Amino acid sequence: MSNPWQKELWRIAGLVMGGLVLGLVLGSVIPVLLLVALGYLGWHLYNVHRLICWLREGRKFRPPEASGIWDDVFEHIYRLQQRNRKRKRELRRMLKRFHKITVALPDATVELRPGSEQIEWWNNAAARYLGFEYPRDSGQRISNLLRHPAFVDYLHGHDYEQAVEIPSPVDERITLRIRVIPYSGDRRLVVARDMTRMQQLERMRQDFVANVSHEMRTPLTVISGYLETLADAEGCAGEFADQLNSMRQQAERMNRIVEDLMLLSRLENETSQPDPQAVPVAAMIDAITDQARELSADNGHVITLDVDTDLCIRGTESELYSAFSNLVFNAVRYTPAQGRIIIRWRLEDQTPVFSVKDSGMGIAAHHIPRLTERFYRIDTGRSRATGGTGLGLAIVKHVLLRHDAELEIDSEPGKGSCFRCRFPVRSHVECGH
Ligand code: ADP
Repeated sequence: MSNPWQKELWRIAGLVMGGLVLGLVLGSVIPVLLLVALGYLGWHLYNVHRLICWLREGRKFRPPEASGIWDDVFEHIYRLQQRNRKRKRELRRMLKRFHKITVALPDATVELRPGSEQIEWWNNAAARYLGFEYPRDSGQRISNLLRHPAFVDYLHGHDYEQAVEIPSPVDERITLRIRVIPYSGDRRLVVARDMTRMQQLERMRQDFVANVSHEMRTPLTVISGYLETLADAEGCAGEFADQLNSMRQQAERMNRIVEDLMLLSRLENETSQPDPQAVPVAAMIDAITDQARELSADNGHVITLDVDTDLCIRGTESELYSAFSNLVFNAVRYTPAQGRIIIRWRLEDQTPVFSVKDSGMGIAAHHIPRLTERFYRIDTGRSRATGGTGLGLAIVKHVLLRHDAELEIDSEPGKGSCFRCRFPVRSHVECGH
């Protein structure tokens, strides 16, 4: 039994004993005991009253003086209050800190009301980039303030995996990348980041690559021309035949890299497709297959076609030619002699699909996500030996991006690979239209 209770029991015992003695002296035990009980009850009621008064006057810090069990009750409540006050202070400090952090965030952050598009709160950056003003815009629908169709579609689409890029409503020159982040059930946070600097850097990179490749083209043509002349020149050809041959091969390789870099730059820089038309893919595949057979030469690859000749898609012929030929030539280059290659062009679940399947060396799973990066090669030696530039799959990726198509890669080391280009249903058109 805890101390205060023990004391209280002693107090009750003392009171009863005192009452008994007094009752015996006065000759009326029951009334005296009743009086004692009433007095004890009154004391409790008085303390309950003091407790209520003290709790009501919240500002009064120390509890009133009390004796017995009530001293303990007051002390316990007082300590609880102190602890709560301390927690409250800490919470308030933490809230203030969080508020300061969110206000200081460089990204525009807007909180929407639960299950709605109405704006609940925003930080300073949101005021700067989105032009929100307090109290004018508080409670407004965000789609009324950010009216760009791409953002409105994104907000209503409920697929927030990707971000959307729009110009800032305050300054057209600022590009914002906006993401909606759902949290806590039906709440949403809208975060906008200034991408202007990133875009400038990206454009600088693209321009640099485009300019360097363009500038390298002329000297390379001159070098290649002189090498041809030297190779044909009598005397010189005999003495330096091997060196000249090697120089010509390297010049050709550089030429191919420059051509591929320029094509990549074009694909990156051109935002819209130049006049998409119905592309006769079957005829294109025939031409690519002829070239692939030439490339295979003595290696005797068995190339089989499974092509729907009536299947055409809307797109840019030259770009699709680059993409499809890269995939077919890769199959030839990475499949040992006598290997089998199947080129398919058919509808699969209504979607036009171009695929190249080979029985070649295959690719380990961890390489697959990186294959479309520029100059990513699994076996650099083999890539170079077979005339690769390391840019083929990057070109494929960009061409497919521009046609809203997807590249799927299935491969197993030692068993072969299958590269599949899946075009959207809407790209399917009647040939000749
Ligand atoms: P490269 O010019 O080196 O072939 P690509 O971008 O076309 O560059 O391909 C990148 C890498 O992917 C290649 O170096 C090669 O290692 C691998 N690869 C591409 N196609 C195949 C294939 N059909 N089978 C096996 N590996 C392949």
